[in-house]
Amino acid sequence: MNPVENKQFERELGERLATSGFRFTSQRRQVYDVLLQKLDHPTTEDVFIRAKRKMPDISHATVYNCLDALVQCGLVRKVQLERGATRFCPNMEEHAHYYCDECGEVFDVSLPAERPSVPQPRGFKVDHYEIAVHGLCADCAGKKK
Ligand SMILES: [Zn+2]
Ligand SMILES: [Zn+2]
Repeated sequence: MNPVENKQFERELGERLATSGFRFTSQRRQVYDVLLQKLDHPTTEDVFIRAKRKMPDISHATVYNCLDALVQCGLVRKVQLERGATRFCPNMEEHAHYYCDECGEVFDVSLPAERPSVPQPRGFKVDHYEIAVHGLCADCAGKKK
């Protein structure tokens, strides 16, 4: 990111945070950067470890608070996997999560913009989808043969 893009990015992030009453802080920026750098649905613990590499002083509580702020202003979503810890995903497009039960990898698959054709109760007004599909990724399925 060049200095101009960087300024632009920080300004947009600041505006977004402000819509939910949060201030821009370098920690919030750092945590958001961590999420954007690797789209592998990290847990709070993963984010903490990665954020610490660039910001050794950042505390666990701060990371937790930053994630909460990013979720509240709609930049990041929480992904709950049964039995597992909460994970975080900065992909705000409507998408399904495909979980590999063998290696734990999570894949984002975009859903069609015109909304997926999942059967719905009559008259139900959909707000958003949370679709999780379990199985084996290509690599793990290959090894099982
Ligand atoms: Zn996702
Ligand atoms: Zn796998």
